[in-house]
Amino acid sequence: MTRDILMIPGPVELSPAVYKALAAPIASHVSPTIIEAHGAALENMRRVWLAGPETQPFIIAGSGTIAMEMAITNICEAGDKVIVLNSGYFGDRNEKMLKRLGVEVRAIKAEKIGAHPDLELLEKELSEDNYKAVFGTHVDTSTGVRLDVEKVSKHCRQSGTLSIFDGVCATAAETFRMQDWGADVYYTASQKALGLPPGLALMVCSEKAIKARKTLKSGPPLSMDWLAWRPIMQAYENRKGSYFSTPATGLISALDVSLEEILSVGMEEIFSLHQRVGDRFRSLFEEHHLSILPESKYAANTLSAVYYGEHQTILQQVKEGGYVIAGGLHPEIKATYFRIGHMGYSARNGKDVQGLIDVLKKLLSEK
Ligand code: PMP
Repeated sequence: MTRDILMIPGPVELSPAVYKALAAPIASHVSPTIIEAHGAALENMRRVWLAGPETQPFIIAGSGTIAMEMAITNICEAGDKVIVLNSGYFGDRNEKMLKRLGVEVRAIKAEKIGAHPDLELLEKELSEDNYKAVFGTHVDTSTGVRLDVEKVSKHCRQSGTLSIFDGVCATAAETFRMQDWGADVYYTASQKALGLPPGLALMVCSEKAIKARKTLKSGPPLSMDWLAWRPIMQAYENRKGSYFSTPATGLISALDVSLEEILSVGMEEIFSLHQRVGDRFRSLFEEHHLSILPESKYAANTLSAVYYGEHQTILQQVKEGGYVIAGGLHPEIKATYFRIGHMGYSARNGKDVQGLIDVLKKLLSEK
């Protein structure tokens, strides 16, 4: 039976080796195989995040939204003051979560949908007032806008403010250098460029971020607490089984495989191949006079967000060609654009991207 190739902005296609790992027999979370996979995955996360040896990686059963809330509740509590750089739907979600917690939020929102938040304003705010943290979305999946995380981290470092980035639609695809840039928290979920099914929330935290957790008066819910999870992560890295809450064993074995695959390509090549793939889609749309949603200077390489123009039935047509792509997500303009995910295994294997580009070329030329 043939099946359609999944090229939405997550979940994405999985590699054969990842499928094989997922099909392994169930094992105890303290069996030698799982201990080794868990320990190796934590070590390899630092290499994929380009993070320093003093940082703390976490692998938790959960979604990207859980990763967002874990970062927020371990850093902030009621009465704190933070900045949210808002470039779309997931910036709105950041604001909502922070406000629910009683945090005072200064939102720096992109001037219009598809624009980059004003970083001069960020610099000014940071120099004039005292903020505990800045939250930003590396790639907002609703707009395809890529935040200049390097610059944001730099401003935060200079003002002694914590920087927390949502890498759900960016990690292991868009250039990110945790150590060089001095970011404090970078989190993702398993179903995007890491190339796994949904189900894992993953993050790497600086010592400064962990210190911020220690000074909270109340602290996050126990199930999300870095201080409860840290000894477990440390035990696995030391190749010892440990228990606080049952880890997602099957997904962790698959994560170990996917991180090895990514590292065997090398991070610099991973970043540049996603750039090349992003460029290929952008050229195609330009050639066929389709406008993209993000300002081109800040267009993400993990996904394309494109206005339908006169191609209102493109989703169905692409499906007939054997590919699944997605509709819009931003509530204000949802019906006007579509999105294509081109990250992870599909970006690496050559054939998925080529196949979809061939289908698109054909149908865009027919009009
Ligand atoms: N942040 C971003 C940038 C995302 O793209 C997503 C998922 N599309 C999330 C957070 C939330 O992840 P999840 O759907 O796994 O909760």
